[in-house]
Amino acid sequence: MIYDILLIAETFNGRILQSAYELLEFGRQFISTGFHRMALVVPGSGISPEAESIGKNYGIDIIAVENKYLGLMNPEVLQKAVKEVINRFEPLFICFIHSVTGSAVASALAAETGASCITGIESFTDNGGMLSFRRNIFGGRVTVEVSSLEKRCVLTMLPGSYAQCEETGKCIPDSAAVTVIKFDYEPSGLFLNDIISEEAGSFKLDEAEVIISAGRGIGNIEHIGLIERISGIFMKSAVGASRPVCDMGWLPYGRQVGITGKTVSPKLYVACGISGSPQHVAGMKNSGIIVAINTDPGAAIVSLAHYIIIEDLVPFLILLEEKYNESYRDTSFQ
Ligand SMILES: Cc1cc2nc3c(=O)[nH]c(=O)nc-3n(C[C@H](O)[C@H](O)[C@H](O)COP(=O)(O)OP(=O)(O)OC[C@H]3O[C@@H](n4cnc5c(N)ncnc54)[C@H](O)[C@@H]3O)c2cc1C
Repeated sequence: MIYDILLIAETFNGRILQSAYELLEFGRQFISTGFHRMALVVPGSGISPEAESIGKNYGIDIIAVENKYLGLMNPEVLQKAVKEVINRFEPLFICFIHSVTGSAVASALAAETGASCITGIESFTDNGGMLSFRRNIFGGRVTVEVSSLEKRCVLTMLPGSYAQCEETGKCIPDSAAVTVIKFDYEPSGLFLNDIISEEAGSFKLDEAEVIISAGRGIGNIEHIGLIERISGIFMKSAVGASRPVCDMGWLPYGRQVGITGKTVSPKLYVACGISGSPQHVAGMKNSGIIVAINTDPGAAIVSLAHYIIIEDLVPFLILLEEKYNESYRDTSFQ
């Protein structure tokens, strides 16, 4: 079997990450341009059963690659594993998610295989058979369209650019072949022993449905607790931050949203005291509903937000919390 496009899912400790479903939606739109043969590559350790069930539920061919070092996405092993898959299935396009691992492996793989590499794509257009991929440069100030002149092209897709594919088996109807490759490879350099979660109990930023994000406008570290409590009101929520908040040590860098932080696309993004610099906006502009709480009606975030609250955020959020607690008390007594 030869595939036109391979989508490379990311997994962690035997679990397929949500970004795989965004890749599936990208792939679904991609094959409508005339590239019919697509497969989802699922690298991991003990990942084959979950990979197979995605194949069935989404009607897509699966190539599961098993290696114990892929349980924590060892980049060297991932690169060699995907190269092996490329050798077998001769794809024209290989698409990773634009994560730290995805971008590192994509560029190294392109260099190793002589393919072109276009990173951080947000969409594509079909210009009469020549595909061009849209990506941002200069911290989101400029958008460019890039095409590949090489036969083979490695892509990374910015998380949040595509909605998650719905479970209808519509990706490739009538087809769900499963190939399991036991990939026997030992990393030669460094390898990850473990990943220690920096904050237990907090939802992962890129999987949260609601993000309450703190900017410099929160004033001081003591107000982080308020932001966390507001976040706690919502299910599947997380606290985000602009870079200065992380630079000042008010929150860890794992919470930073933006071009040098995480790219997120929650259903609701509440920007508390964030001005809306291009570097921050590049990481959250695909959020479903954006709420800005800011004292400055001229702040850049205001022109992007769906709901704008021109207030001092601290008394506003304290009042919001009080009102929530009152209504919660009222309903819990009924
Ligand atoms: C190479 C590079 C990469 C970068 N990467 C990132 C990145 O990934 N993520 C990121 O966030 N930044 C990044 N930055 C920094 C970015 O340029 C901005 O400096 C940063 O986003 C600003 O953060 P902020 O909005 O919290 O602060 P500010 O720009 O200082 O804005 C604070 C906002 O709070 C409002 N405010 C003040 N007091 C209150 C109050 N009491 N109530 C309500 N509102 C109030 C103000 O009106 C203002 O709009 C990067 C910069 C560079 C050069």
